Amino acid sequence: MIQDTRTSDPSRLIPGTTGDWEIIIGLEVHAQVTSNAKLFSGASTRFGSDPNANVSLVDAAMPGMLPVINRFCIEQAVRTGLGLKAKINRYSVFDRKNYFYPDLPQGYQISQYKQPVVGEGEVLLDFPDGSSIAVGIERLHLEQDAGKSLHDQHATMSYVDLNRSGVALMEIVSKPDMRTADEAKAYVSKLRTILRYLGTCDGDMEKGNLRADVNVSVRRPGEAFGTRCEIKNVNSIRFIGQAIEYEARRQIGILEDGGTIDQETRLFDARKGETRSMRSKEEAHDYRYFPDPDLLPLEITAEWVAEIEASLPELPDAKKARFTGDYGLSPYDAGVLVGDRSAADFFETVAKGRDPKLAVNWVTGDLAAQANARNVGILDLGVSAEQLGELIDLIGDGTISGKIAKDVLVIMLAEGGSPSSIVERRGLVQVTDTKALEKIVDEIIAANPSQVETIKLKPKTIGWFVGQVMKASGGKANPQVVNDILKARLDLE
Ligand code: ADP
Ligand code: MG
Repeated sequence: MIQDTRTSDPSRLIPGTTGDWEIIIGLEVHAQVTSNAKLFSGASTRFGSDPNANVSLVDAAMPGMLPVINRFCIEQAVRTGLGLKAKINRYSVFDRKNYFYPDLPQGYQISQYKQPVVGEGEVLLDFPDGSSIAVGIERLHLEQDAGKSLHDQHATMSYVDLNRSGVALMEIVSKPDMRTADEAKAYVSKLRTILRYLGTCDGDMEKGNLRADVNVSVRRPGEAFGTRCEIKNVNSIRFIGQAIEYEARRQIGILEDGGTIDQETRLFDARKGETRSMRSKEEAHDYRYFPDPDLLPLEITAEWVAEIEASLPELPDAKKARFTGDYGLSPYDAGVLVGDRSAADFFETVAKGRDPKLAVNWVTGDLAAQANARNVGILDLGVSAEQLGELIDLIGDGTISGKIAKDVLVIMLAEGGSPSSIVERRGLVQVTDTKALEKIVDEIIAANPSQVETIKLKPKTIGWFVGQVMKASGGKANPQVVNDILKARLDLE
């Protein structure tokens, strides 16, 4: 029986017609291990190969073939466990999980059951409102992936592609510690970030390299957990949120009508945005687990674990703490940056010797917006950290205004080239020449007598004048100088 680790928080309840309800969520995430070879064979794990191109005799379950464990996959699982601050079990066991399925030639999956390689751990979630929660990890175990049935190749027959058969998966099981769809989405997102930092799973959900079984139940606040339903194989963070919202509503509807929830496995239909029954508890498999007689129990040494631990990179939580501490970034900005390791590294290069606040604004602002618009990462834009740094320096030393800098970035993206050469070539240098600016200011004051009357009553309308001068100068006027001239000419302050 799983213990309820949290009291009911009123802000996380949802109203029904007969009172409040609390959603309880636990996730089983399947993460494909980053490794060139499969868990028990030397066949390649390459994505996109021709069907059955990467299948050894072991993966095809030919009689007499014996599995040989891939040391690197174990190392990846241990590395992940350490990254999840989890207990590493130096003694673990591989079991056979028996079931019949056309894409499972062995007739069983080699998995871990009672004695997984990784035990209890924790993932911290931070939210934009400043709150945070810890989601417990129950366990992490290694197992084989299955093959894939192809139903669209032939009118009357199904084909099978075993390329994926035997690829190593980590199943990461959370405790039922989440209470809202947003928390579950934040959990998967954070878990994926950690896996990417560690280099143990690429987190590519579109390729199916990260997918989640979503367990959902509802209860009255403070009462015992209700019966859960498990929604299988949800493969996007958005769908995970939708599946939870739908499933919680469905269960509340049944309970409020006096019904009961049947424990069952359900599927999420992304097109309709709903879940539907796949099999009930009565139809549940009896997997008849037993230790795989072809594999010895797995024993790993304390020295090896220590060696792997020493090689861990700085992880998101530590990086975030360093960014708020060393650079004085807000928790929000630091959180956005560390969500993507390459953006975080990029920021650090830009921030070296510069104002970190400016650096973060450019990296998470204009640069991120340009990357999003192209649906690529920041590093794929072709603008180096050195180039962005140079651009920021040009603002800092007054050569260009912040507004012109945005234009320069767009030109850099389209045509390449260093910021200073672009500024020079296009004559974008900021006008700080007081005489030239005074002339523009005088013309605008002369042409707008009614605005001059207004500003005497409402000094804030100076912004309008600044805007006109900026426009007249083609955005090149130094706004500070313009402000000073305007105040002098209009007798403000
Ligand atoms: P199994 O699927 O083998 O029965 P568990 O009972 O340990 O495994 O639970 C699997 C997942 O379901 C875990 O992620 C756990 O957090 C979650 N879970 C367990 N009980 C509930 C519940 N009442 N409501 C929602 N999730 C639950
Ligand atoms: Mg399960």
